[in-house]
Amino acid sequence: MKAVAVLPGKPNSVHLTEMPRPSIESIPGGRGVLVRLLHVGVDATDKEINEAQYGTAPPGSDFLVIGHESFGIVEQIGPNVKDLKVGDYVTATVRRPGKSIYDLIGTNDMTSDNTYYERGICLLHGFLTEYYVEDPEYIVRVPKGLKHLGVLMEPISVAEKAVAQAFEIQRRLRVWRPKVAYVMGAGQIGLLATMLLRQRGMEVYTLARSTPPTLNAEIVAGMGATYVSTTQTPLKELAAKTGMPDLIIEATGHSGVVFESMEVLGKNGVLCLTSITGGQRHVQVPSDKVNLDFVLGNKVVFGTVNANREYFEMGVKSLATAELEYPGLISKILTHKVVGLDNYAEMMRLLVEVKNALKVYVEVSPIT
Ligand code: BGC
Ligand code: ZN
Repeated sequence: MKAVAVLPGKPNSVHLTEMPRPSIESIPGGRGVLVRLLHVGVDATDKEINEAQYGTAPPGSDFLVIGHESFGIVEQIGPNVKDLKVGDYVTATVRRPGKSIYDLIGTNDMTSDNTYYERGICLLHGFLTEYYVEDPEYIVRVPKGLKHLGVLMEPISVAEKAVAQAFEIQRRLRVWRPKVAYVMGAGQIGLLATMLLRQRGMEVYTLARSTPPTLNAEIVAGMGATYVSTTQTPLKELAAKTGMPDLIIEATGHSGVVFESMEVLGKNGVLCLTSITGGQRHVQVPSDKVNLDFVLGNKVVFGTVNANREYFEMGVKSLATAELEYPGLISKILTHKVVGLDNYAEMMRLLVEVKNALKVYVEVSPIT
């Protein structure tokens, strides 16, 4: 079968390769599930792996099959698979267990191991291929009515975790009635986080540089949130108008924004960091001021990465609610479809060159 791979460590090595189709027998205990891929999304992680900023091949392989945002259909199951059947639409989690206590309780996303295993990113082949085989533990069913959004399941799991962890952390306050939230960045994670915070009833401001009319501004408005172009309204000016936010989710990919966000976070507030910044940027920060306000205001900043199946399951429900509330709006995130794995070069070109691409994905095989 075909697969799209890179040679980790070698920039711009993305290429098409051939590999044997996996068999359900490769999973012990009759628990193998064979999934045929339909849509596979790509994001900045895939771009940065192709730039050789990170990415590690599995042991014994010199290449890494990329792609961690999967949507497919179950084609065959082992005799001991009970909760999935042939024909089910599914997505898969990305990280596989290591050895830490967090991995042992199924929260691989919280591993404290230095080495972690992520399909398509680190030490495990990904999903930009025709088939994969997994244990049902890592496969999450997607209702048929959401098949057109299947490729957003992994990104929304990341946004779900970010929001859920922020609320979990705020239980420290005994009572927390957040009103104003800022989402920094209006890419896929920013938009999905906006949706989740609106679903939790918050007044949401989603900030990005570009000036409307833009597609992301339209999607933000459709969710009942307010899009703010920081070119028109700088962050501090916005905070003077709305009051300092109770919650900020940072998803711009620019580490400097983290420190600007720290400066406007309200008392008792929480700032959640989601950007993977593989670069070497340095910024100057008014550290005494930021520190003082954090201490005197009992504020929290935390990072979050990846997501376990609990957040994928939450994501399914949130997307279903969104489809009921504003039918068709979320599909607008799916801006760039590439047909066929053979067109991997076009996929990478869109990722690199198209600045307003919200979601680039490959139709490995059409959804029927
Ligand atoms: C993926 C996560 C992953 C992270 C770090 C992100 O692009 O969506 O699942 O944990 O990269 O590798
Ligand atoms: Zn990703």
